[in-house]
Amino acid sequence: MIAKVKGTQDILPAESGRWQDLERVIANVSAIYNFKEIRTPMFEASELYHRGVGETTDIVKKETYDFADRGERMLTLRPEGTAGVVRAVIENKLYADPSLPLKYYYVGPMFRYERPQKGRQRQFHQFGGEALGSLLPETDAEVIAYAVTTLRALRLPNVKVKLNSLGATASKLQYRDRLIGYLEPVVAGLCPDCQARFRENPLRVLDCKFDRENPILVNAPKPLDDLNEADALHFAKVKGYLDAMHIDYVVDKSLVRGLDYYTHTVFELEADLPSLGAQATLGGGGRYNDLVESLDGPAFPAVGFAFGMERLLLALESVDQGKRDESVHCFVIALGDVAKPKAMELMTGLRHGGLIVDADFMDRPLKGQFKQAERLGAAFTVILGETEVASGTVNVKNAATGVQETIPAANLYHYLIEAFRAMEHHCDGSCDGSCGDGCDCQ
Ligand code: AMP
Repeated sequence: MIAKVKGTQDILPAESGRWQDLERVIANVSAIYNFKEIRTPMFEASELYHRGVGETTDIVKKETYDFADRGERMLTLRPEGTAGVVRAVIENKLYADPSLPLKYYYVGPMFRYERPQKGRQRQFHQFGGEALGSLLPETDAEVIAYAVTTLRALRLPNVKVKLNSLGATASKLQYRDRLIGYLEPVVAGLCPDCQARFRENPLRVLDCKFDRENPILVNAPKPLDDLNEADALHFAKVKGYLDAMHIDYVVDKSLVRGLDYYTHTVFELEADLPSLGAQATLGGGGRYNDLVESLDGPAFPAVGFAFGMERLLLALESVDQGKRDESVHCFVIALGDVAKPKAMELMTGLRHGGLIVDADFMDRPLKGQFKQAERLGAAFTVILGETEVASGTVNVKNAATGVQETIPAANLYHYLIEAFRAMEHHCDGSCDGSCGDGCDCQ
């Protein structure tokens, strides 16, 4: 037997419905923020990532899937989405579009050679949003709001937005020098990974996961304390807009993120949910004002984010939303040859109205058909025989209450819809009264 490659996963039919739900929420939220989908290739010239993501990042140094194709081109399976989007913007001259900013999102697999564990795979999926062409802090706030709204639409609770600013490239470089000066004499007191990082990418030392309490890092100068006036004003405005949109955040002065290209605002979204285990970070992003230019495009500031989709689905498991209700709404039992075509007609009508409907199709005896309805989790079972066909009625049985009623066949759809409406609203305190059902959500 040939097994799947380490760090990859099959999304089997039992799971794919949850993915489709997630993708639907992403598409809906993207539409209301007016972000349009962009689909870029899954592999690109290796140079794109070396120059785009950064030579000294963990991703490029240790995690990319690089290969030479038969024409001896050096190619890389995309480890993230932003570099490809930027390449497409430059190559297709999308920056010349008069309706700036460009607002794009993408959904798809990414590849990183990492140690697989819960919530960390070698082929995983990201949903990312990018706004390109605007320098304004409004855009940072808009992009953060877009990311947060996605989590709200998924009804994920306990999400923390962590926020920091690295300042523009000049501030970042100035700060980098100061940090190097501070760390140089004490570097031996850092973990071995950070000692290596210190030489290659000193900012990354700040968000070391192992050494969080180390006084060397606690007392290290932070980028936020080194911002010049313009950069500090940009950050203050981002926070002001987030306040105006009632988006809660905490400023985390040690947040730097793993990719080299960030400038100004960086952010991370974290959920404290048991199903996530150690991988609490759902996503993150930031402003990247110089990336387009560094990839031979024009000066074109941008800001974006990416979520790990496996992480979002894992997070949903904790709030019990992970269990997608794929149960059949209505199972139709037809008794005898006269009832069968009538049943098929009824089923078609219910399905056109959006209900999930199924029937026997195996000529099971009546008892077996009830058993099948139960196996499929049918909320209602509709029974019709010759008598019902003659009188234009159906028998409807509610599986939860056991109540059985005879109603006109023509009313069946409305009867079911009303019953579902009544069953559906159970206040969990998260709808802030906007459900309009007169419950006491507030
Ligand atoms: P990054 O592109 O590194 O900023 O990652 C953004 C998000 O993608 C992370 O917060 C994770 O949710 C997710 N992610 C990154 N690497 C992996 C991986 N190897 N497996 C699963 N999800 C990942």
